[in-house]
Amino acid sequence: FVIVSIFSVHQFIQIQTQQLYQALEQQAVFNSKYINERLNAHVEKIQLISQKSELQDEDIYAALAHLNQLLIDIKAGETEIVTFGLMDLEGMLWEAADPEIITYQGYTDWYQAVLRGVPIAFSEVGHSVALGIMRKVVVAPVYKDGQLYRVLHARVGLEKLSGLMPELKFGEKGRAFILDEHGIMVAHPSPDLLLVDGTKESEKVPAAVAVALKQAVAEKTGRIYYTFRGVDSILAYHPIPLTNWIMFTVAGGHEFYAPINNLITTLAAIISGAVFLLLFLGWYIAGKITRPLEGLSVAAGQMSQGDLSNAITVTARDETGQLARVFEQMRLSLKELIERYQLAVEGASDAIWDWDIANNYFYFPRTKQMLGYEDHELDNTIEAYNRIIHPEDLWSVEKQRALFLAGKNKSYTLQYRVKSKSGHYIWILSRGNVVRDATGKPLRAAGSHTDITAAKEAEIKLDQLAYFDQLTNLPNRFNLMRALNNLINNAQENKDYFTVLLLDLDGFKVINDTLGHPVGDLLLQKVSELILQAVSNTVNNSDSAVARFGGDEFVILLPNRKGEAALGVAKAILSALTAAISIDQYSLNISGSVGVAFYPEHGSDADTLIKNVDMAMYKAKEDGKNRYRLFSPEISAVANKKMEIQSNLVRALKNREFILHYQPIIDAVNEKPVAVEALIRWNHPQKGLIPPYDFIPIVEESGQIINITEWVINTACHDSKQWRAQGFKPITVHINLSPKQIAQDNLIDIISNALEENKLCATQFSIEITESTAVENWEQTLKTLAELKSIGVKIALDDFGVGYSSLQHLKQLPVDTLKIDRFFMFNCTADQRDQAIVKAAINIAQSLNIVAVAEGVETAEQLILLKEMGCMHVQGYYFSKPVPLPELLALLN
Ligand code: C2E
Ligand code: CA
Ligand code: CA
Repeated sequence: FVIVSIFSVHQFIQIQTQQLYQALEQQAVFNSKYINERLNAHVEKIQLISQKSELQDEDIYAALAHLNQLLIDIKAGETEIVTFGLMDLEGMLWEAADPEIITYQGYTDWYQAVLRGVPIAFSEVGHSVALGIMRKVVVAPVYKDGQLYRVLHARVGLEKLSGLMPELKFGEKGRAFILDEHGIMVAHPSPDLLLVDGTKESEKVPAAVAVALKQAVAEKTGRIYYTFRGVDSILAYHPIPLTNWIMFTVAGGHEFYAPINNLITTLAAIISGAVFLLLFLGWYIAGKITRPLEGLSVAAGQMSQGDLSNAITVTARDETGQLARVFEQMRLSLKELIERYQLAVEGASDAIWDWDIANNYFYFPRTKQMLGYEDHELDNTIEAYNRIIHPEDLWSVEKQRALFLAGKNKSYTLQYRVKSKSGHYIWILSRGNVVRDATGKPLRAAGSHTDITAAKEAEIKLDQLAYFDQLTNLPNRFNLMRALNNLINNAQENKDYFTVLLLDLDGFKVINDTLGHPVGDLLLQKVSELILQAVSNTVNNSDSAVARFGGDEFVILLPNRKGEAALGVAKAILSALTAAISIDQYSLNISGSVGVAFYPEHGSDADTLIKNVDMAMYKAKEDGKNRYRLFSPEISAVANKKMEIQSNLVRALKNREFILHYQPIIDAVNEKPVAVEALIRWNHPQKGLIPPYDFIPIVEESGQIINITEWVINTACHDSKQWRAQGFKPITVHINLSPKQIAQDNLIDIISNALEENKLCATQFSIEITESTAVENWEQTLKTLAELKSIGVKIALDDFGVGYSSLQHLKQLPVDTLKIDRFFMFNCTADQRDQAIVKAAINIAQSLNIVAVAEGVETAEQLILLKEMGCMHVQGYYFSKPVPLPELLALLN
């Protein structure tokens, strides 16, 4: 910009200067013309006068008088003509103002020129001593009759020319002057410079002007520069055509160049202003961009030094500002993070550790403090720290640490014990992260130590709760399973074998239910002691384990034992239980059923082993209890059938594979049906009719009984419409309820809905429950029965005589019917004891004013006996087996 500006300005100044020069030269031309015309006016005047006839007067004096009169007239006007005179052809000159003065001028060039015939001639400039002025002589011929007669002579003063010079100057400081071809000053505004004494004034002219003069004479026009009286000047010259004079027009250098200088100054000011502006703009723009960035980099520097205290206050609205705001947010988040981190560090339970791995510098001051050590008591090395780690934990800590450093473990979280100064161990939760170099080599690790002793102790306590039975202090089921799995793992490796025993107490439930839970609990404690004793008496090794598996079930693990050796333990346990156990005032006889399974023959995993030993135990129960049974594939087959049934039941319910058979209950006196009992069968598509004993216990276990019962209730009520339609006197329908169902919330709704839907009167509907059902959930039973009672439903107590047969219970239950178990019917005609029981049951019913029903009546003798004993109703094959509905209807007919 500067270079271009300077170049342009240079060009511009050149043009301007050129224009100034032209102006100056024009002035010079104008000046010369002006003077030329002025001179020409005199010449013409002189020529005119020369033609006047008065000048041809023979009498020269008369002619001179006329001229003198003209001169006076002219002088009154503005003229430079100073004198007039007449010359004769001999060269004599008579002055018009004073004819007495006659001089010879015949030798002069100008006179000679006129004689030669030129119309006008001039003398050179000269000083007239007589007149005391600079003058020029002008001569013109005076003709008479076409012949040169005389010559008119005029002297022209040049003072008036000098007077004109100030008017012709260029500018304020300029000058104009006239030199003749010899350098004589013809006109000049300063009179002192005029030729006064006749000396050749060219010598007085400055050297530069002399040079100019020479050029001017040669070239007639041009310009030069010169310094005169210490002033720089520019001088333009131009000839005055009428004479050989040269018109000089001078401009004061300073003044002449003033416009240009002004221009230069202005332009320089503009350029420097522009440059300044540009520089400022550049600086400003750069500053606007770089200054915020500088601020940011300073802030970043501070942040990298860890100083987050200074806010980043860049207010720019551009991208830099955006960056700054993001940066500020970053700073705030970082600050908050650090503050939180510090809070965490300063927190009560956390200590920070820092491990410079390369230099083995392990920094853990807060941990030391936490453990009660002075800082100097433990070196800051990993070895020093290792020394206070619990010996049992050290191995695993070192192993984990190595895995972590090797990058095998992503995170480092360990729990271990560390010895405090006071000697007790504190549980530490150590967490950490590692910093690696580019090659993955760990450089530094850092993390925290948290005192988790309290949590750990609680955990141990919980462990105790979780792994041990609180009643017997034996390992619990969970613990047992863990031990069993361990045993299996070890046995697999070492090709070992072992035995699992599962003991289930016989009739424990009865004791629990009748004598109460506190007695049951004490009994379990006693039993567990007896088992432990029996096991330790027969098995010497301490590896054996006795666990409470749940309820009244115990599992005994016998490592490295099988065959007779293992069965011997089962026998020992059973015999240990035979002795009566006294608890409070009671003397209780208890027995157990034991299942036995060998590893690996009877199962290679824990679940299979437990499942199989369980089956063996059930087999022992089935076989009459108080015995052990070794697992066998046959047992498994039976059990598997059960499982199969269970899985088929879902489908059965969906496909309506169940049917109801009905067995009439007969009035013993008139032998007419008073009721029917609905008994379920499963009409299996492949296996045919399956009796309830084969699937009811299974669906009870699985909970499917709820849906099945609902189906039974609805179906029985629905079927009852058919015999009711036949117009007999009301026949009650009995349905059987499973133990758990008495507690079922919607039982009442199901029954009342079914009754309502089939328009069956509640009094013609009876549920059958067993005493054990009632006992199991006494309160709930009373409540449900009361509700059923309130809507009119009848209640029958089923299978009376087996189990509890407690008069106390019977009195409290709102029972309408007592069904005497068919077990007593078999021998009642022969066996006095059974007969006595049946008789007692009938008597109880009579005394409670409820109906007694004898079940399982198969013979006429039984019927006769029952009639004798006053049994009101009977039920049994003697009258009818349970039959499908159509047969029942036929039967009723
Ligand atoms: P329960 O309630 O004691 O039913 C009477 C059982 O005795 C029936 O066996 C019946 O066929 C059988 N019985 C009747 N008269 C004689 C006889 O003169 N001699 C012999 N030896 N037996 C006789 P069933 O039908 O096999 O039912 C067995 C058990 O299944 C029932 O015993 C009952 O506890 C249960 N049960 C049957 N149906 C249902 C039901 O719908 N729901 C529930 N929860 N249990 C049912
Ligand atoms: Ca029944
Ligand atoms: Ca029964």
